[in-house]
Amino acid sequence: MERIKDALLKYWGYDSFRPLQEEAMKLLVEGVDSVVVLPTGGGKSLCYQVPAVVSDGVAIVVSPLLSLMKDQVDALIECGVAAARLDSTLSSYDQAEVFRRLRASELKLLYLSPERLLMGNFLEELSRLKISFVAIDEAHCVSMWGHDFRPEYRLLGRLKQTLGGVTIAAYTATATKQVRLDIAAQLELNNPQMLVGSFDRPNLHYKVSPRNNVFSQVLGVVKQHENESGIIYCIRRKDVENLCANLIQRGYKAAPYHAGLSDRVRQESQDKFIKEEVDIVVATVAFGMGIDKSNVRYVIHTGMPKSLEHYQQESGRAGRDGLEAKCYLFYSGGDFGLWKSMLNDLPQEPKEIALKKLSDMYYYCTDASCRHKRILQYFDQKLESDNCNACDICLGDFENVEDALIVSQKILSCIVRLNQRFGAGYVALVLTGSKEKRILENAHDELSTYGLLSDFSQAVVRDWIDQLESQGYIEKYGEFNVLRLTLAAKPVLLGEKTPRLLKRALKKAKLSKAHKDSWQDVDKSLFDKLRQLRAEKAMERAVPAYVVFNDVALRDMARRKPTSIKEFLKVNGVGQKKAAQYGEEFIKVISDFN
Ligand code: ADP
Repeated sequence: MERIKDALLKYWGYDSFRPLQEEAMKLLVEGVDSVVVLPTGGGKSLCYQVPAVVSDGVAIVVSPLLSLMKDQVDALIECGVAAARLDSTLSSYDQAEVFRRLRASELKLLYLSPERLLMGNFLEELSRLKISFVAIDEAHCVSMWGHDFRPEYRLLGRLKQTLGGVTIAAYTATATKQVRLDIAAQLELNNPQMLVGSFDRPNLHYKVSPRNNVFSQVLGVVKQHENESGIIYCIRRKDVENLCANLIQRGYKAAPYHAGLSDRVRQESQDKFIKEEVDIVVATVAFGMGIDKSNVRYVIHTGMPKSLEHYQQESGRAGRDGLEAKCYLFYSGGDFGLWKSMLNDLPQEPKEIALKKLSDMYYYCTDASCRHKRILQYFDQKLESDNCNACDICLGDFENVEDALIVSQKILSCIVRLNQRFGAGYVALVLTGSKEKRILENAHDELSTYGLLSDFSQAVVRDWIDQLESQGYIEKYGEFNVLRLTLAAKPVLLGEKTPRLLKRALKKAKLSKAHKDSWQDVDKSLFDKLRQLRAEKAMERAVPAYVVFNDVALRDMARRKPTSIKEFLKVNGVGQKKAAQYGEEFIKVISDFN
């Protein structure tokens, strides 16, 4: 393990492990098979990259996406590690060179797709070389129970025997127990150790709001994140194009991405985002699998995803470098209805499962309890502390409505007066005293509950209705999501029980703990200067900016302000090769700044 620690410092410039990394590395060095489940950004790649550097022979890394492989290999080479990839995009000359280096034992890591690995007699050829171990990335693709089954992954079951019982480690960010066991069985692992990390991402700051004017809500967010990288997800392709065009018109550097665009346009958008030529990608969920850009500082969902698994995966693309990042979600009851109507064609059982996932997602939005806790509960895990310090609820973006009982009674009575035959939007219109034609035509302006909450906006009242629903006082039924009271509403109407209602606090929202910690003592103007130099270097070397230095390293430089190579090497994320390669120029910017 000493050699592992030395390598971590020498090549990556890191002096400590993330949770479970040390354990995962130890298993590889000792030749024990493993299945490792760590959240996105948990540092899975290092779990096999560091042992590969200190082991004899070459480690084989199986990964499903060509673009990810390229980024990983580029990043390893930048750190001074002998790594290469074999894929169809390489010229035959480059492929021959990789084979030469492989046979000459010059490589520590070789990245391949499963198809490439199983092509022709490649496996037999590998079996004649010294293989340190095999690492399988995105290992849930092996299992039919996972959410992204890939048939070609199934064939990886041949590896164990063909490569003479080689040690295999499987990595994934999402795997239920059933999937973990299936991964182990399919890959024929030998008494594998299962390492399962916490799914919590303490550096992600979740903020959830009802959607009213989505463009101004999005603008409000992007203004707070000037020059930072962000992803904006929309449910529909048309929304992607409109929103992206509007942002560009306002002078923001944005690019669109959805499955309806040509391969070329999508590739261009992705490349521009990775190289930081644009700050924002506006996309459908088609975007994201193939990138591991570590400094995405925010993700906005302009509509509610259909499950918390999807939400966790998409929002999880923010803050992989461990620094604070924000996840904004703007939802509406209409999103629930939209997804629900799409489920209609499914057979009964999958439909029920999907509907349950959809309801859980909706309650996450409306229930107004700690967001971190809710997500963890969903994945059967517990949050250790009472206050996550990183969500709108725990940071006091909301306050309790003082007369919650009376407000709740007004809402419940209005639903009764409407004979339990209308949806939430309509109920909110009646309560706020709307003069909309259909209200007047139905003579609902004559109801005793009409205008009872006219001091509040429709959005606020609508939100309270959602809150009452998520606490079980109201339920939606039928095709049109009509509201009706549940048995639990009776004690509220009798004044015996008070629901909890929240409203947005007027005071300025607090910053998360992760935000304060990671900017502590950092000189922001120096950080911006270093960022410029990083962009220039990235452009020169044709690699993504975060491959030169990630944001953690850059902030640490702007904190420590090193003026010698010796001090520069102390910066978190600066290894020997990078210090030699970039040290002088970065130190010069720092000295000129001082
Ligand atoms: P995952 O594959 O689990 O999503 P990565 O391996 O891409 O995560 O790691 C995410 C980021 O965290 C990368 O920028 C990586 O360099 C950084 N990282 C990983 N391990 C450590 C560590 N021990 N100390 C500091 N940074 C780390």
